[in-house]
Amino acid sequence: MQDDLQLSQHFRLSEFTVSQAATRAGLRNDPSSKHVENLRRLAGVMEQVRQLLGQPIFISSGYRSPAVNAVVGGALASAHMRGLAADFTSPAFGSPLKICRLIADSTVAFHQLVHEGAWVHLGLADGDSGTWRREVLTAFFEAGASPRYMRGLIG
Ligand SMILES: [Zn+2]
Repeated sequence: MQDDLQLSQHFRLSEFTVSQAATRAGLRNDPSSKHVENLRRLAGVMEQVRQLLGQPIFISSGYRSPAVNAVVGGALASAHMRGLAADFTSPAFGSPLKICRLIADSTVAFHQLVHEGAWVHLGLADGDSGTWRREVLTAFFEAGASPRYMRGLIG
């Protein structure tokens, strides 16, 4: 068990590693030091998002080990497995769609922003040199199928 590091002013490591799915499946979800480094960068971006919203943020999924990612049906190359993505809500601010609209119109340097219905997914690119793709998508979920993604924010 790693120490619960304070990654940034408002975010602790455990907020990015606690996983109900992992607990239910009896899986560990321990990031490597490289992943923690990525999570620290991610926490820095999440601070910008928090400032933008002016409200607390609840992270439902941050880092996912490959086993945990498989259990939750995450994408094979999911940025969550590298500690570079967070799924979150901010009920005090408003709906995930409202959050997405604000981030999409901001200067926050994200790689991928996805409106996933019940939450927001924000992903970063590997490395600092990364071109920030600022790709904005909406995910549609159907039982027993992979999610479909469409460009833009569709409410
Ligand atoms: Zn996600």
